[in-house]
Amino acid sequence: MEKLNLIAGDWLPGTDWAENINPSDTRDVIGQYARASAEQTRQAIAAAKAAAPAWAQSTSQSRADALEAVGVELLARREELGELLSREEGKILSEGIGEVTRAAHVFKFYAQEALRIEGLSMASIRPGVRVEVRHEPVGVVGLITPWNYPIAIPAWKIAPALAYGNTVVFKPADLTPGCGWALAEILSRAGLPAGVFNLVMGRGSVVGEEIVRSPDVAAVSFTGSEATGAGIRTRVAERGGKVQQEMGGKSPLIVMDDADLQTAIDCAIGGSVLSTGQRCTSNTRIIATPGIHDALVTGMVDAARALKVGHALDPASQIGPAVDDRQLKTNLKYISIADSEGAERLCGGEVITRDTPGFYMEPTVYGNCTNHMQHVREEIFGPVVSVLKAADYDEAVAIANDSPLGLSSGICTTSLKFAEDFKSRSQAGMVMVNLPTAGVDYHVPFGGRKGSSYGSREQGRAAREFFTTSKTAYTSF
Ligand code: NAD
Repeated sequence: MEKLNLIAGDWLPGTDWAENINPSDTRDVIGQYARASAEQTRQAIAAAKAAAPAWAQSTSQSRADALEAVGVELLARREELGELLSREEGKILSEGIGEVTRAAHVFKFYAQEALRIEGLSMASIRPGVRVEVRHEPVGVVGLITPWNYPIAIPAWKIAPALAYGNTVVFKPADLTPGCGWALAEILSRAGLPAGVFNLVMGRGSVVGEEIVRSPDVAAVSFTGSEATGAGIRTRVAERGGKVQQEMGGKSPLIVMDDADLQTAIDCAIGGSVLSTGQRCTSNTRIIATPGIHDALVTGMVDAARALKVGHALDPASQIGPAVDDRQLKTNLKYISIADSEGAERLCGGEVITRDTPGFYMEPTVYGNCTNHMQHVREEIFGPVVSVLKAADYDEAVAIANDSPLGLSSGICTTSLKFAEDFKSRSQAGMVMVNLPTAGVDYHVPFGGRKGSSYGSREQGRAAREFFTTSKTAYTSF
């Protein structure tokens, strides 16, 4: 049965539909998902606009109750929804369940935050006047999400948007609508008035464009590729809207001579090729100093070769397939670029077949890389990691920072001096010490610098900045 869009409290068919295919087994069709037209997207925006004034006045308790209910149901259904996630996106089941659990925790966190929307009251510089700073909802927000975290990213946009009193038009990625639809179905039973939350599945060029261009959408929060993000940023800014963006990464991990070797190998491999390399925060550039370089490379190659690639739902699998044929082709394009620009392919890089037809590929380690190589500068979004050598700490930091992107970064070291110094000098929005660059907490700010991000941070209490607008009130008494 076709899964429908949620517009103004009604489940409505689209003008077209998309087939959701399992990348671990392309014979497995997960379902048909409605694709909305531009006109239907306008209806969803109008519904959100109509619902906005009352929702902005709703009690914090009613918002908290709704968000808590969603969190509770997500937790209770994490295994079932985790399986759906792994089926449609291709990450292994433990990661799928982990992502649903994270989404549940995000909803529970913002249920509490809805009760803590603070303002400020202070003395005026004038006699007999009191000044207040209030944080009010921005109105209708458009939320556009990518395929690689199909429930966590929607959760960390939808939950704060609702907690701070906004109404929502949500567009999940066309490639992975299943988790977005399941989340919308749960939200539809959480006690929200009609129109407060709307789901419009469909193409970026139709649904996404409509959200981006509509003067009735006060703010757009987007996660996705840099190329798509650049166009969206211009179009929202042109019409005076508010925009927040999280985009690509090419995160460096420095490995110092004094690092614990096993920790470094675990970080270098665990933070790069796992999840099929489909994480924006992956540490895809490993920068090692000479004393540890060779042992690290040997350990990384052994670890990569030992990883089991297979069907996402097979408990023995440690890496699933690429999300689709297009992503697999992109990965292979970068393999041939890396081969031709003189990087040394130490393992992997080949397509592999399994019992089920899917988009499988070997995890790949490249050595002898330089920071000028194209495959080292551009985000691949596949299971490919490049190792570079740096003469010393200062050169390693210079290489780490020499990137147009700045999402996450890391260092493996046992020296407090290097760790502390790197935390200051890194030009990324997130810095890890003796941890992979991927893997973050939900209650603290998330986001990058340079080309990786635009606007204010997501997650934690930082989300308030984007999802509210401040008002300064003066009262004479
Ligand atoms: P994408 O840019 O192709 O699509 C993202 C979303 O934008 C989808 O919902 C898509 O339908 C929509 N879209 C496409 N064209 C649009 C348009 N013209 N107007 C409005 N919306 C449009 O990205 P993707 O391939 O789904 O995701 C992978 C990318 O996401 C990678 O680059 C990855 O680094 C990035 N990502 C970043 C973060 C982060 O937090 N920094 C997290 C996850 C993924």
